[in-house]
Amino acid sequence: MRTPTDAWIASRLGISEEELSAEVLRAYQIRRFQETVRYAAGHSRFYAGMFAGTDPDSICTAEDIKKLGVTSENDLAGRENLFLCIPPGSVDRIFTVPTTGTNGNQKRIFFTAGDLAPSVEFYYHAFLTFIRPEDRLLVMMGGTAEGSVGDTIDRSLSPIGVTTRVFGQVTDLETAWNAVMEFRPDVIVGIPYQIGALAAWSRSHGLPHGVRCVLLSADDVPNAVRQRISGIWGAEVYSHYGLTETGLAGGVDCCAHRGYHLRSCDMYAEILDPDADGFGELAVTPFGRRAMPLIRYRTGDIARISTERCPCGGVLPRLETIRGRLSNSCMISGQRVFLSQIEEEVFRDDAAVDLECTVTGNELVLLVRTLPQEETDQEALKERLMRAVLPAGTKVRISEETVCGFLPRRSPKKRMVVNEEV
Ligand SMILES: [Zn+2]
Repeated sequence: MRTPTDAWIASRLGISEEELSAEVLRAYQIRRFQETVRYAAGHSRFYAGMFAGTDPDSICTAEDIKKLGVTSENDLAGRENLFLCIPPGSVDRIFTVPTTGTNGNQKRIFFTAGDLAPSVEFYYHAFLTFIRPEDRLLVMMGGTAEGSVGDTIDRSLSPIGVTTRVFGQVTDLETAWNAVMEFRPDVIVGIPYQIGALAAWSRSHGLPHGVRCVLLSADDVPNAVRQRISGIWGAEVYSHYGLTETGLAGGVDCCAHRGYHLRSCDMYAEILDPDADGFGELAVTPFGRRAMPLIRYRTGDIARISTERCPCGGVLPRLETIRGRLSNSCMISGQRVFLSQIEEEVFRDDAAVDLECTVTGNELVLLVRTLPQEETDQEALKERLMRAVLPAGTKVRISEETVCGFLPRRSPKKRMVVNEEV
């Protein structure tokens, strides 16, 4: 089935799905990009400075966009008022999220209700990839607060008859499992390692009656976790990519599982300084945001965009692969190592449900969490890490901790701790 996001994007562009092409989309995106620059430069002190002397109408191609400045979270954190384009009293929703650095700083992202409305529309269309009106949907993330992921998904799908329940994050596995057994969802939305842990838990606590699909979001999505969930539950596993900065929704993969079909009518995505393989930092420019426009915002994610036609029939560029977050990576013996690569190997061990990773110099210390009565094969894990991820000479220490039904409460995104060598 062709991704339903194509039909939606075509309708947003006022054309038929047959008329949709990468070129038509690009022309539309350039127009919206110009509008975004014009509005931001006229209303935000930060962008008035960045675009002083730039005529928005002179931005006519992707090459022109590449010559413009970029925005980083360091520009934003603590200086949000420089970005604000409307009176503070007109802001409807403020999200406070940690910066990706390790300094404990936070950044605040401002929205009007209108800024967040397109996400509701996107979730509805993207979820049509796997959801049916009679489905029961259990959201195991976010929360019930207005504007949260749970609330946004609920508002997207309730109108078509989907029965939604927002459970919140999985920390107490038994309570979470009881919620699954009682609600009997067809579709579960959740955070990768948490749903992976829940699948592992269900091996000894009774399998569900039939979870047909799982959508993973809010953190790296290791293939090993996808395979575990599909192996134990028989569910088809999809992934969502999005950030608070993109207004939550960003992209969802299709039945071909070959990358994320992006919300391209609402944002421009580009790879900064791509290497020979096309990988570089993903930057996004959401369109039409009244409260806090962001232009060429560096996401910190190293990714690649594919312009090849998707096997599903989709014709627009896809966010094909996300290699990992720069802030969750380090240099070991001159080689960049991403936490996502380490996770991939850790979760290939069926006993592993969570991990902590600390790097000091060329020493990698892993704490792997397991369920009771399970243990990992540490030698095999070490061998996989040395073969696939780590440079020769890296010292690896692995220890284990049993979680008695509780996952540690923390931000959905795991962190790699990198210590200065002493
Ligand atoms: Zn596709």
